[in-house]
Amino acid sequence: MRLVDSHCHLQADRFDDDRDEVIARARAAGVERLLVAGWDEPSSRAAIELATRHDWLDAAVGIHPHDAAKADPAAWQGIVRLARDRRVVAIGETGLDYDRMFSPVPAQLDNLRRPLELGLEVARPVILHCRSAAGSTAAHDALVEELDRAGIRPPPDGRESEAPGSAAPPAVMHSFSGSAAFARDVLAHGLAISVSGLAFRAGEEATFGEVAPLVPEDRLLVETDAPYLSPPGAPRRRNESEWVRLTAERLAAARAQDPDALGGELVNAYDRTFRSAS
Ligand SMILES: [Zn+2]
Repeated sequence: MRLVDSHCHLQADRFDDDRDEVIARARAAGVERLLVAGWDEPSSRAAIELATRHDWLDAAVGIHPHDAAKADPAAWQGIVRLARDRRVVAIGETGLDYDRMFSPVPAQLDNLRRPLELGLEVARPVILHCRSAAGSTAAHDALVEELDRAGIRPPPDGRESEAPGSAAPPAVMHSFSGSAAFARDVLAHGLAISVSGLAFRAGEEATFGEVAPLVPEDRLLVETDAPYLSPPGAPRRRNESEWVRLTAERLAAARAQDPDALGGELVNAYDRTFRSAS
């Protein structure tokens, strides 16, 4: 099965002892594309360095909602500069996290609006994290409002017109978690959906079963979010890119699809999302 890891943090210090081995293991396991996302300015710079050392890796630069309150204007200016690097294929990760709420809401909203603007300006997709508190959909609702506010809107007739060759997705819902209604909403805005092991954890899997068949093949991605979110069945708690296979296989089953056919689609969707801009 061909594989991609559309979102991970291999620059994190938890890989300091074996980073190159982790990358080599991913490659040996069939991972052909791997996107390293930043969460603040230094980690965004480190993502670019990693993608420069390993030419099959890509980088994304941004400030995570957890770090929104810590980021000063200089940090954001740093991200804007880094976004011009040729190794950078996306802006992020950014988004909203009203569950852990490590940054107050106004700082998170500010930290989301800037990259949405920057993504449109540099024609790169924006990688979005979204978590509402238990029993609430506040972050999910706010995120959709912010997409509208940024001018990322559904087509006027409300249909999901996705003609072949149409523009790459303006944003990616990373490590998707949410209802089928939310999935329909972001898909109608033209977004891609990236699936991590989280989708198959107890408590998520039933809802995700409704979401899995909704995503068009050219807007479906798969990821680890390593070192976080080790998928069910993985041998260790520290997640690694090679275990994206476990999630991709479960995704194929959830979509009643042949794994090899899905693998080819995942690579194509990755290229369309992240590598179609020059
Ligand atoms: Zn992440």
